Amino acid sequence: MSAETKEIVLQGIGVSPGVVISNAFLLISEEERYVEREISADDIPREITRFEEALIETRRQIHDIQEQVKEAIGQENAGIFDAHLLVVDDRAFVEEVIRGLSSRHLNVETVLHDVSERYAAALGRIEDDYLRERAADVRDVTRRILRNLAGRSGSELMKLAEPCVVIANDLAPSETATMNREKVVGFATDLGSPTSHTAIMARALGIPAVVGLHDVSVRVSANDRVLIDGNRGLLIIRPTEDRLDSYGKLIETRRHIQSELARLRDESAETSDGYRVLLSANIENPDDIRAVQENGACGVGLFRSEFLYMTRADLPSEDDQLAAYRKVAEALKPDPVIIRTIDLGGDKFLSHVRMAQEMNPFMGWRAIRFCLAQPDIFKTQLRAILRASVSGNVRLMYPMISSAEEVVQANQLLEEAKQELRDQGQPFNEDIEVGVMIEVPSAALVADLIAPHVQFFSIGTNDLVQYTLAVDRVNERIAYLYEPTHPAILKLIKHTIDIGHAHGIWTGICGEMAGNPLMVPLLMGLGADEFSVSPSVVPIVKDVIRNLRYAQAEELAAQAMASMSPKEVLDICRKLTQEIAPEVIELIE
Ligand code: PEP
Ligand code: MG
Repeated sequence: MSAETKEIVLQGIGVSPGVVISNAFLLISEEERYVEREISADDIPREITRFEEALIETRRQIHDIQEQVKEAIGQENAGIFDAHLLVVDDRAFVEEVIRGLSSRHLNVETVLHDVSERYAAALGRIEDDYLRERAADVRDVTRRILRNLAGRSGSELMKLAEPCVVIANDLAPSETATMNREKVVGFATDLGSPTSHTAIMARALGIPAVVGLHDVSVRVSANDRVLIDGNRGLLIIRPTEDRLDSYGKLIETRRHIQSELARLRDESAETSDGYRVLLSANIENPDDIRAVQENGACGVGLFRSEFLYMTRADLPSEDDQLAAYRKVAEALKPDPVIIRTIDLGGDKFLSHVRMAQEMNPFMGWRAIRFCLAQPDIFKTQLRAILRASVSGNVRLMYPMISSAEEVVQANQLLEEAKQELRDQGQPFNEDIEVGVMIEVPSAALVADLIAPHVQFFSIGTNDLVQYTLAVDRVNERIAYLYEPTHPAILKLIKHTIDIGHAHGIWTGICGEMAGNPLMVPLLMGLGADEFSVSPSVVPIVKDVIRNLRYAQAEELAAQAMASMSPKEVLDICRKLTQEIAPEVIELIE
């Protein structure tokens, strides 16, 4: 087998199911561009091919720039690029790199960098101005070749022209927020965990993703053909024909199941014995409305409004926000749209609002803490939400509440925002429903103190698990400890739901646990009234609910509450879903 077709299989954490085969878009930041890596003898021909392709691309780019410069400022100034072309075409230079690959067994980036430094240093020592300047040319051209070898930068995610799988060390929410979603067909990253934003985003888009692959960003070369198996957590580089054949059959079976599930679009989320819950969707921006409607969700249970702030270079005005909220509310009415006030901090930052670096950003100046300290920013958003409330069934909720006092303070600012609108004669729904996210353990424990101040609870299991189990939700090293079926989590969920019901308010679940088809019957049995999940998993969750009897859910919940271990709970959950909806297991495992 030639080196070009050698298959490599990497195991990571599958965070969004499905299989996709496409070309890699290798996203590499400036600091990561140059990573030393050992190669085997088999890899040498492939490294030579990569080098030659990068040289061709570099030559083409230099020609293009030369033409542009000639047009703009004349032939004379374009002369410098002749010197650059001489470097690319210098046989001695190119051959020394190729020889270095065989003798040193290191990747082409490392060998090229070292050869280039040697040339540049030698030229720099010569007592001749002309030749000394050539040292800078060698370095410039080398940088350009390295860039062509390495892949592309974050800003290029916006301009993707062809379908591709994005491969990266890590993906910041600000990068996924601005990328061209139409073209990204899968994600694979070195870092990350099931509730990191990349994973949430992949599930929202319904595309396969694998995280926690450790070194995928150095094993994959730009434009390699890759296969992502999001169910098994595999990333396969340059898959063989046999591999493609066997996956082809699997893809066909799954496509068939999915088209069957799509028929549930207009059906309600109701058990076979008539117990109904509200099944809504999580969104990040108004363009997601289509996915909500196409998948048959009943409105929006979590609008992560901070993404409106993260995709631009300044703060969105009240009117900008109003336009976004109104669009969603109008499109989905009479179904509810729950707008969560901004949850900035943690791993979500704005480029234009200065926030000092913190040791523990997830436990730092985040979400409601930031908003209460920045009442102008907060009230601008509250007024926009209030004004949108006349256009549909708009509700609002506060993130990261940890005490009843915070709710009281937030409600005071809401009252001020209402008064400001009254003074301006702006209409809004005086009775807008207000809720809180229960995602900090202390909030779950004082749910009885919070309940009198709100109309609903929405449990954010992503953070609730992180804070209760002291497991950083974006750290792949400890992802094995991130267990939503841990007895501590089940107790907090049950406590919150029971307290909510005792106070006559409903409780929803909007963390990723709600969209896990293995855990849906358990959450139903614990009494959840609403499930808000990624749009793409709505049909799967609906299928599970429609195949379930409520008594089964109650029994499962009772067994889980008496259980000692997260694994034991997960096993009984899997057993029930396998029994009632085997087609779903086929899709996710
Ligand atoms: C959660 O914490 O469960 C949640 C839904 O919010 P986010 O994932 O945006 O932190
Ligand atoms: Mg949260």
